Amino acid sequence: MPRPKKCRRVCALPRCSSFGPLEGGHPEPVGMALEEYEAIRLIDLLGCTQEECARQMGVARSTVQQVYDQARRKLALSLVEGRRLTISGGDYMLCPQAEDCAGRNCARRDCARRRCGCGNCTQNKT
Ligand SMILES: [Zn+2]
Repeated sequence: MPRPKKCRRVCALPRCSSFGPLEGGHPEPVGMALEEYEAIRLIDLLGCTQEECARQMGVARSTVQQVYDQARRKLALSLVEGRRLTISGGDYMLCPQAEDCAGRNCARRDCARRRCGCGNCTQNKT
């Protein structure tokens, strides 16, 4: 029986799920999972440490290390070889809305509080 994998919590979905070179490029795309995208968002964009990232995603530090390493490798492949990068799927659960999320960088919590600046929560503002 396969051991059930622990779900990685993802607090923000990508705005765009497909990226690629404007000219030429490699025919084989690179597929990035949503939890890999989340690790890049937390560590590279928001400046979280791997510990903070692990806490927010609800997994062990060693798992974050693996996920992050894979994500970085895929970014490098895309950049260096000119491959299209698509973000979809993975082994994750979307953060259940919002107020009670423990993550200080939870985009979904910000969205529920209507301060994340995404199209949806601005539209909903009345
Ligand atoms: Zn969250």
